[in-house]
Amino acid sequence: MKKLLLIGGGHAHLYLIKKLQDEELEVEVTVMSPSEYQYYSGMFSGYMEGIYSFENIRIHLPTLADKAKVSFIRGAALSIDAEAKVVLTEKGDIVSYDMLSIDIGSYTGGIDVPGVRQHALRIKPTYRIEEVANKMWEANNPVVVGGGAAGIEMALSLNAKRQAEGKAAVTLITQSTLLTGEHEKTQTKIQEIATEKGLNVHQNERVSNVTSSSIITSEGNQISYDQLLWLTGPKAPGIFQTSKLPVDHNGYLLVEDTLQVKEYPAIFAAGDCASLRDYPNLPKSGVIAVRQSEVLWNNIKGFIKGEDGIRFQPKERYLSILSTGNKDGLLLYGNVSLHHHFSWKLKNKIDRRFIENYQ
Ligand SMILES: Cc1cc2nc3c(=O)[nH]c(=O)nc-3n(C[C@H](O)[C@H](O)[C@H](O)COP(=O)(O)OP(=O)(O)OC[C@H]3O[C@@H](n4cnc5c(N)ncnc54)[C@H](O)[C@@H]3O)c2cc1C
Repeated sequence: MKKLLLIGGGHAHLYLIKKLQDEELEVEVTVMSPSEYQYYSGMFSGYMEGIYSFENIRIHLPTLADKAKVSFIRGAALSIDAEAKVVLTEKGDIVSYDMLSIDIGSYTGGIDVPGVRQHALRIKPTYRIEEVANKMWEANNPVVVGGGAAGIEMALSLNAKRQAEGKAAVTLITQSTLLTGEHEKTQTKIQEIATEKGLNVHQNERVSNVTSSSIITSEGNQISYDQLLWLTGPKAPGIFQTSKLPVDHNGYLLVEDTLQVKEYPAIFAAGDCASLRDYPNLPKSGVIAVRQSEVLWNNIKGFIKGEDGIRFQPKERYLSILSTGNKDGLLLYGNVSLHHHFSWKLKNKIDRRFIENYQ
């Protein structure tokens, strides 16, 4: 029987495995992931704030796989030989495949700033969340670097928890303005929210060096910390370049809009790790990975039967909701932004529904 190997338990692979519970493919399916658990980043802010428990935010991959007659291998892929159709794992095992699908997410960007690798906490891969949250909870002087959605959410959520415990405010440092790239009105709104919620924000300050206790910015400021969370955006996993697979200018695996590698059509990829040749500027977000799930499933099924794949067509805009602490949420859709408790309730409902489908 032919073999389909799924590397990573990301959003699109969760969907695929779930589909396999109801529909059998005439292939042997295996999923490989370094952790038995897949952590859902959409709920990390709620976890940081103490709203969700650890069990609320994770999916046990072997259980999900078992129900779909999919084998689970605990391991991380180190390199891919697309000619020989084999994957080398970090433990030194070699796993062969006829069809390969990759959904391994992204890693943390900006870590080449001196001192960051040694001193800063990073969430990606996402199974690090428990260790990160524990350290940030215990900190006397926690600092978050990164003014994008993830950095703001995590800083505001931790700040809300600390306020309730009577602890000092969280500091957030960003080299630009908060939510840079969003509409001007949205940027103003998030600044107002951050001020109102008591976050200590340093905007337009680029971190140039990190020591074991201080952050030095290019403006010459020295900011002390005892725990530092680095959230400055995504970075491509190194596996594609080491495997000499086609990549975009940032090192993400280059795929067609059928989610297949042009040179190796038996290789599929979805989520953060993939870059669509026709849509190079798609944001790296879980929402996109979820949207690609159905196309991935359809096209892998079609490939097995020798059919042509359907095309992924991104929408012009996607709904996103940032948790801003105390069960408030900032809903963003195009130029519309709405800060309200109901926005958080909607986020909570969407996130809980997503994860419960796989738990
Ligand atoms: C704090 C934070 C909050 C976020 N909140 C949101 C949000 O609310 N909404 C949203 O849309 N996006 C959010 N994002 C972005 C989101 O996390 C990513 O875009 C999303 O997780 C990408 O999904 P994915 O399916 O590509 O991979 P992931 O969900 O990252 O899953 C990849 C899986 O592959 C595994 N893996 C990694 N390397 C290997 C390897 N070499 N071999 C085998 N397996 C491997 C990983 O362990 C992981 O289990 C957030 C990000 C952060 C950091």
